[in-house]
Amino acid sequence: LNVLPISNYISQRNPGQFRTAMVKETGYYDLLGVQPSANAEELKKAYRKLALKYHPDKNPAEGEKFKQISQVYEVLSDSKKREVYDRGGEKAIIKGANFDGGNGRSPMDIFDMFFGGGGRMHRERRGKNLLHRLTVSLEDLYNGATRKIVVQKNIVCERCDGHGGRKGSAEVCLSCLGTGVQGRIHHLGLGMVQQVSTVCVECHGQGKRMNQRDRCKSCTGLRILQQKKVLEVHVDKGMRQGQKIVFHGEGDQEPGVEPGDVIIILDQRMHPVFTRNGEDLIIRMELQLVEALCGFQKPVKTLDNRTLLITSHPGQLIRPGDKKCILNEGMPTYRHPFEKGHLIIHFSVVFPAENFLPKHKLKDLERYLPHEEESQKLKMDDDLYVYADLEDFDLAHERKRHRRNYHPMTDDNYDCHPGGVQCQTS
Ligand SMILES: [Zn+2]
Ligand SMILES: [Zn+2]
Repeated sequence: LNVLPISNYISQRNPGQFRTAMVKETGYYDLLGVQPSANAEELKKAYRKLALKYHPDKNPAEGEKFKQISQVYEVLSDSKKREVYDRGGEKAIIKGANFDGGNGRSPMDIFDMFFGGGGRMHRERRGKNLLHRLTVSLEDLYNGATRKIVVQKNIVCERCDGHGGRKGSAEVCLSCLGTGVQGRIHHLGLGMVQQVSTVCVECHGQGKRMNQRDRCKSCTGLRILQQKKVLEVHVDKGMRQGQKIVFHGEGDQEPGVEPGDVIIILDQRMHPVFTRNGEDLIIRMELQLVEALCGFQKPVKTLDNRTLLITSHPGQLIRPGDKKCILNEGMPTYRHPFEKGHLIIHFSVVFPAENFLPKHKLKDLERYLPHEEESQKLKMDDDLYVYADLEDFDLAHERKRHRRNYHPMTDDNYDCHPGGVQCQTS
């Protein structure tokens, strides 16, 4: 059984209740903005408010202040240490700390203990997301696919549980006094100074350092290791170019930091036959003139390897530039893969080469094709016309030539249809 003096017992069990305000100095209480008679609850409240205000994540310029309030709170929240302070002031605390061999608790530790680690500054305390582009084919997006990708990432060392070495062997970094930040004074001239805070170079912002021999053999004190991890990416039917697939929390790990996500961004390779437009697929189809006039059957290989036989009905005629569609042969809809878009076909018509028929056979062909109405037929009388032959015409070239010779006075009066039928001006 541990017998304690009665005064000690009381202050441990219920520190606030039996306190008297007889203290040697009030500096620590002043820092937290409380009366020396403050009870544990009041101290907690005061520390909480100040710690959140001066946390280096939020207020990096106030590292010194954060350190002070954390150290003061550590003393005052421990009834034994508080009694030492009340009786002997700051000197007694420093003396006691030296006698203990120094205590290794950094302001960050105190903060974490107080807030249970979960109360850290949230926004800044989340790791970066890793972005990764994944090239997929249009077939993958049509049929769905599973891809394995390997990501290289940092993980918290398991052997030391992210402490970097033997527990408790970490010492407060002397360069930054445990704040993880270093203040530098910049002289701006005229007696003005500016304080700039940077991450401590000695401890890389950890606020702690460790002896070589205490360091974890696995991570050499770095607290993190590199690891390759295989992620299985499920590309669902109907997904699109640029769509993101998120692996929550698979980003780099860091002690005390919530890991970010791995985000896969789909990058669709161009397809030689199909272009996608939303849920529709578009192909171009070239028909010979005879096919456009007399009908055709053409096979098209689908993205899931079926063969569609595109068939025109007898009498159906395809003009150059016509668009036709086949229902339900487009892309599957994302999350509703049985609903599909259309397959849209853009037609072009290839005319036969010049002189594809001997002249006498053209007369035969002419008979089958529609003619202008009788009334519009030309009278064959040489005296009525000036005969004009067709020449090849390059529009771009012609414009240039035209501009060079442009004479507003004369050109305005002549409206020329280049290469076409000549206009008569009267
Ligand atoms: Zn380790
Ligand atoms: Zn440091």
